[in-house]
Amino acid sequence: MLLHGKIGGSSVNGPGNRIVLHFQGCDLGCVGCWNPDTHLFRGDKLVNMPDLEDWILDQKGITGITFSGGEPMQQAQFFWYITEFIKRQRPEWSLILFTGYSIKELERGAFKWYRETDAEWQQGSAKLWKEISGNLDLVVAGRYNESKRTNELPLRGSTNQELVFLTDRIKEGDLSPQEVEMTFDPETGLVQITGFPVGWEEYDMTKDRKPATVEAPPLKAMAEGDDDDDGMLVGAGG
Ligand code: SF4
Repeated sequence: MLLHGKIGGSSVNGPGNRIVLHFQGCDLGCVGCWNPDTHLFRGDKLVNMPDLEDWILDQKGITGITFSGGEPMQQAQFFWYITEFIKRQRPEWSLILFTGYSIKELERGAFKWYRETDAEWQQGSAKLWKEISGNLDLVVAGRYNESKRTNELPLRGSTNQELVFLTDRIKEGDLSPQEVEMTFDPETGLVQITGFPVGWEEYDMTKDRKPATVEAPPLKAMAEGDDDDDGMLVGAGG
């Protein structure tokens, strides 16, 4: 599985205290995407699944897990696997997916997924989506549309995106207004900003589309840290 980054406790990506897994790889090409660093399917972002599973189980005080982009559905095979693992190991957790695909596209199998073992694209299917969605509680679905951007709607960066509640484990009233969160890992020197950046209506998107990648402070610990993670900004979108 190609993973851009992981957060061991977030309160801005859904209700409660959540693990966030940011997948690496997305070719949906939403104009104005806040995290283009996640777009390439980069071999150096390959994670060892047993290590990832151990890390997930090691996190304390967690109430759920959020899968975000890049595009989780473009690694559908591993995404399905990790949802199965969590349902087995932590059945009390809620599962949220951010995806750039619309629900209609997913339901009719109109998506594709990247098989990293041979770098081949595979066609999705309604059956595969049914298996994956059977493990999810909430889907935030649809491309990020820059012309419809909003900071009014919980968990959505643009008004065309929809919330699809698949179980009653999460309800609309459980969702907080958009917020941004910064985490700092003193062991690795990693700074991560996640959630929905405030003040973005004042941001001139015509002048600078470069993602606001945050460099970690120059701590000695960085040299010994996990180079699997980048500082990153993850804003609105799938
Ligand atoms: S907003 Fe999400 S779906 Fe759109 S290009 Fe960015 S990562 Fe991909």
